[in-house]
Amino acid sequence: MFNFNELGYHISLIDGFDLGRKNRTGTYVIAERNITLVETSASPSIPHILEGLNALGIALEEITYIILTHIHLDHAGGAGLFLQHCPNAKVIVHPKGARHLEDPTRLIAGAKEVYGEDFDKLFNPILPIPSDKIIVKEDKASLQTSETRSLSFYDTPGHANHHLSIFDPVSRGMFSGDTVGVYYRELEQDGIEFYLPSTSPNQFNPEAMLAAVDLYESLDVKRIYFGHYGVSENPFEVYKQLRYWLPIFVETAETAFKQYETFKEQVAATRTNIFDNVTTQLATMGIKKNHPVFEIIGLDLEVCSMGLIDYWSKRGKIGHKSIQM
Ligand SMILES: [Zn+2]
Repeated sequence: MFNFNELGYHISLIDGFDLGRKNRTGTYVIAERNITLVETSASPSIPHILEGLNALGIALEEITYIILTHIHLDHAGGAGLFLQHCPNAKVIVHPKGARHLEDPTRLIAGAKEVYGEDFDKLFNPILPIPSDKIIVKEDKASLQTSETRSLSFYDTPGHANHHLSIFDPVSRGMFSGDTVGVYYRELEQDGIEFYLPSTSPNQFNPEAMLAAVDLYESLDVKRIYFGHYGVSENPFEVYKQLRYWLPIFVETAETAFKQYETFKEQVAATRTNIFDNVTTQLATMGIKKNHPVFEIIGLDLEVCSMGLIDYWSKRGKIGHKSIQM
């Protein structure tokens, strides 16, 4: 059993088994003249990616580009380690991400704050990337991967300020990282397509996130290649659900922020209330409380709630005008 899926248009998806879970975080492979990967996941995923590339018949020397949608560790933490296997590859990143790849000290400190004692198990090692191996791509820059394919880069903050979305005109697909949320494939077998926003700390910005959704819509995207996980061929459903849930996330956090004193309490209340809301809505679609999807949604909402409360903390205290969604 191979750990990759063919998605058509010379694109494959290798499962990195992030957190030991299937269909959690993946690496896309665009197999053309300049073989290009999108995302590396965290370092513990690298053996799975090497195995997937081997199964796809791709030699590591052939890999030309490794694109990172953003530098959060579940997307890019393994890039330094992976690069040691790929002598001819360059890493492509947002201008605001480059220096943190060269010197990951701040990335490591930030992740330790969010993930605490789980840090080692989740992310070790995080290796620096030499500056001559890094290519920076600005908004609307392009990358020729073959005579017939030129990828376009878009600066899409909202989830993070160092986030790129990468458009592939051949499949009319967008590699979205975490820009337009998470696709919960665990509900696929129940016939439910379910997406939630990803509002991790500490640069979450709801207005920018909605602007990114508008941008995708204006580009007539037909497929979305999610960081978590896989491809959706129903972008309008993605936009609809994101526009539905994002104000709920933000407003739930605002209430908790006003109601409680400490960050810990505010995060806990936000998580509980959003989780209950999601559980209730999925229950109307026949999903029982013991469905395995809730374990992963619970984990995600923990981190999302931290980002939401961080957002409200930065906006200042009670009395501040509610944001217009
Ligand atoms: Zn992510």
